[in-house]
Amino acid sequence: MRIGIGYDSHRFMEGRKLILGGVEIPHTMGLTGHSDADVVAHAVTDAVLGAAGMGDIGAMFPDTDPQWQNASSIYLLNRAYLQVVETARLDFVNADITVLAEQPMIALYVEEMREKIAEALLSGISNVSIKGKTNEKMGFIGRGEGIAAIAVVLLE
Ligand SMILES: [Zn+2]
Repeated sequence: MRIGIGYDSHRFMEGRKLILGGVEIPHTMGLTGHSDADVVAHAVTDAVLGAAGMGDIGAMFPDTDPQWQNASSIYLLNRAYLQVVETARLDFVNADITVLAEQPMIALYVEEMREKIAEALLSGISNVSIKGKTNEKMGFIGRGEGIAAIAVVLLE
């Protein structure tokens, strides 16, 4: 068994779609970033790579490489996972994810996000847990400057 942790944060920006866990969520702002800025998918990808001891998302998909511009982060998660399976001979067991956002409330979209992430990891929805939290109006999350996500992933 191997465990990995991933953390990511992105700043809000007007005029972009908000994509979390592969799901487009209606909101007044999206997140800045080179890819689709899916903070949830990025945290899970780093946890998967961390568990395998295979570096991080920035090393595998450098933001200097134009082929990843506006890339679907769920697609990148799937690619990273397939490389872990092939190189490290490890399979996904489960993930537990916390999304930190003052706005929007993600509860309505959690099921769909679990489905998308499970699919990218060739697994079932029961192996992916997602919880939404506010930051009680404290810090950059609390001021609504951006969204952060923390993920723990187990591989075997
Ligand atoms: Zn990111």
